[in-house]
Amino acid sequence: MFKKLEKEITVHNAVILIVSLIIFCMSVYIFTKGTIDKAIDKLIRKRIEFYRDMDTSRYYNNSEEHIRRYPKPLPQEAKTDSFDFKIRFDFIIYDDDKEIMYESRLQSEENIETFKNLLWDEKNINEENIVKVVSGDREYRVFTAYIKDEKGIYIQLIHDYEVNKAFLNKLLIMFLTVGGVSIAALILISKQFAKRALIPIKESWEQQKNFVADASHEIRTPLAVLQINLEAAMSDNKGTIEENEIWLENAMSEVRKMSELVNELLMLARIDANEIEIKNDIIDLSLLSHEVVEKLEVLFEASNIIFNKEIEDQLCIKGDEAKISQLIVILLDNAVKYNRLGGNIFFSVKREDKLILLTIKDTGIGIEEKDLKHIFDRFYMVDKSRSREKGGSGLGLSIAKWIVEIHKGKIHVESKKDEGSIFTVKIPINM
Ligand code: ADP
Repeated sequence: MFKKLEKEITVHNAVILIVSLIIFCMSVYIFTKGTIDKAIDKLIRKRIEFYRDMDTSRYYNNSEEHIRRYPKPLPQEAKTDSFDFKIRFDFIIYDDDKEIMYESRLQSEENIETFKNLLWDEKNINEENIVKVVSGDREYRVFTAYIKDEKGIYIQLIHDYEVNKAFLNKLLIMFLTVGGVSIAALILISKQFAKRALIPIKESWEQQKNFVADASHEIRTPLAVLQINLEAAMSDNKGTIEENEIWLENAMSEVRKMSELVNELLMLARIDANEIEIKNDIIDLSLLSHEVVEKLEVLFEASNIIFNKEIEDQLCIKGDEAKISQLIVILLDNAVKYNRLGGNIFFSVKREDKLILLTIKDTGIGIEEKDLKHIFDRFYMVDKSRSREKGGSGLGLSIAKWIVEIHKGKIHVESKKDEGSIFTVKIPINM
């Protein structure tokens, strides 16, 4: 399942990255081409400005040889713009009757024919129109201006576009090569990303799988005990209810345990699904602590526990009262469950700066160092049979930790085997 998902994420990521790369390369290419085209058009127009006020009669009054030798006023004399002269232009000058008077570089017959043909179309002779022409296998940009002095001349500026094309082709080849290598690298990177992205999903999947397996396991034990006790009661066909009371009481006790377990499981499932409503009321923690202790007094008595409390007055925090009450019950209940008969519990609630400090100390069986780091994990029980016998399921402390965390607090445990444990909860007052 994860292999398929990994493949899908890789393909998805790779497609997005490749499309972005193609769009980026295409944009750079189109932008560069546009910038070059614009720069050339601008230079052609600028150069034409040199000819605007020229004395056209010099072309009529001098021999072709003379003009070739002293082609003024031609662009060479206007070396004011260095960039302008890095781009090579050729030009052809025609007389009023469209006969060639001068050309800067001898053009082929075919080119001359093509360029000359442009003169016959009026719309090619104005400043806006830089015409693209293909002659032979080369592309040119041609601008034709008509300059009227005593007699008119046509000046045609010609730019051989092939130089730019060669540059653009090089750019394209570079993009294709770099693009190809990048695409291969991107696919590898996407694969790594997909693997990384799946790690938390895999973990959560595993956690969920273990949760279902552990939950089923925990439910199976009380179910089996329930079945055995009910079978025992039913096998006694002639016996009265009183006579079978022992089996029925056992069965009832298992039903109670199971119902408690199912409630805890339901709560954890709702925690995972983020479906639990968390209130944010002002809680009188002093009052709440006294109330919880009062309810648990029967339990302390039943286990012969010597219970000591030290609860400061008027301690208030903001949070969810029912959940804080549940937290105190879990910790005090554990302090009873894992205590010795006639052991001690010390419970204190006091203020420390901007925190409320709850301490639950017992003189019970304690927890070994190796187990300490696991006791907040779901379903973790140091001694399974003892915990089950006491009605435990290994879920209490994981719920307690969650309650502390939603109140932005911290829970900490110190313990020594056979000596006892101290659970400390710090909750910010947050008022
Ligand atoms: P349970 O329902 O089994 O009590 P918890 O999550 O509350 O589950 O506790 C997990 C385990 O941590 C218990 O099974 C027990 O082994 C150990 N534990 C919890 N509290 C104490 C304590 N006060 N003293 C000794 N061991 C404890």
